[in-house]
Amino acid sequence: MSLMPSWIEAANAPDVPFPVNNLPYGVFSTDNLAPRCGVAIGDAVFDVGTAVEAGLIKLPAALFAEPSWNAVMAAGPSVWQYLRDRLQCLFAADSVRDLAESDSLQSRLLHPLDLVHLHMPFAVSEFTDFYAGRHHATNVGTMFRGAENALPPNWLHMPIGYNGRASSVVVSGTPVRRPLGQRKPTGEDLPVFTPSRRLDFELELGAVVGTGNALGQPVNAADADAMIFGYVLLNDWSARDIQAWEYQPLGPFQAKAFATSISPWIVPRAALDPFRVPAPARDHELLAYLRDEGKAFYDISVSASLTPDAETAATKVTQTNTRELYYSAAQQLAHHTVSGCPMRPGDLLGSGTISGPTTESRGCLLERCWGGEQPLPLVTGGERCFLEDGDSITLRGAAIGDGYTVGFGECEGTVLPALPAGGSA
Ligand code: MN
Repeated sequence: MSLMPSWIEAANAPDVPFPVNNLPYGVFSTDNLAPRCGVAIGDAVFDVGTAVEAGLIKLPAALFAEPSWNAVMAAGPSVWQYLRDRLQCLFAADSVRDLAESDSLQSRLLHPLDLVHLHMPFAVSEFTDFYAGRHHATNVGTMFRGAENALPPNWLHMPIGYNGRASSVVVSGTPVRRPLGQRKPTGEDLPVFTPSRRLDFELELGAVVGTGNALGQPVNAADADAMIFGYVLLNDWSARDIQAWEYQPLGPFQAKAFATSISPWIVPRAALDPFRVPAPARDHELLAYLRDEGKAFYDISVSASLTPDAETAATKVTQTNTRELYYSAAQQLAHHTVSGCPMRPGDLLGSGTISGPTTESRGCLLERCWGGEQPLPLVTGGERCFLEDGDSITLRGAAIGDGYTVGFGECEGTVLPALPAGGSA
């Protein structure tokens, strides 16, 4: 696959994140327009709902009545394919001429990206976070249980996950307040109630479920792939001290319930097809419902950087790749349904922290600074083991093709100070 040229010149540079090959789904507003569905192309956002009303796209206007992509997701893969084909046709250099030659349509439908506000691209039905990164699970297990017991006995047989909160999933640019909670200081007998002192981020890929399954109807991994609408970058903010005290025996709860950030554009699954890669080597053959079929993993370069309050220079915390994951989103989705659990349009699946084999590719501060033992020097001076108030974390992701890039847009969040602890600390 090579660059699909456009008459929109800004969509043709090799490092532009939004060429015709991408066309990610978002929700935008302007000073004059209420939030609505849009698609990013070059340096602009295309107003899809208004294009439908203008007759450029032959879909029911009801699909775009709400400022979210859920109705389109629920309409299913044939609608996704039609819309994508039609948009590519409208933007292609050898385009049908209706949009390319109409200044009035262009001024109505195309808005400069740097002048729009971006909103949540979909209503999150439910959020489940997995733990599918082998290096991450090994590193965290080594820190907590020792190298011999790093991976739990189930880990190589199923994607481990927990049911998270949809209510606290926020779009990039939304500040994140440091949580209050119980933690038990080392050497103390009793817990205290204070702001978290070990606030962390997790670099993850989020899969957005487009079509669901009925209650009681499991889906296998091969079929689950077709249910995925697209992907976002996801920061699973984590309070490690709250987590360490609360996580046994039912897993993370308040340590991760306070916020999850996502990037504002859902990159279509179809846009990532050219970047599919095979599954990693398996220590054990997977059970039939999880078995690897075709290429369900992706070669997407992802990174996280940290910018302290009032600074402009960012420190790269990690640089890694989604192909480091051990379980694909399709396998996670299959495992999620295996009991008969129904998934719905707008369900969000976090991949788990994407860590690589090297120190520089560890996808969270807990690993990167090895539980607080190896501080990370900042380019602006000072160092970090965990996040401080005012710190901003920015995730980036890009799949690099032949002369083009499929980008995700940034996933940024800044840490606000905790609320007063009410004197109970
Ligand atoms: Mn996570």
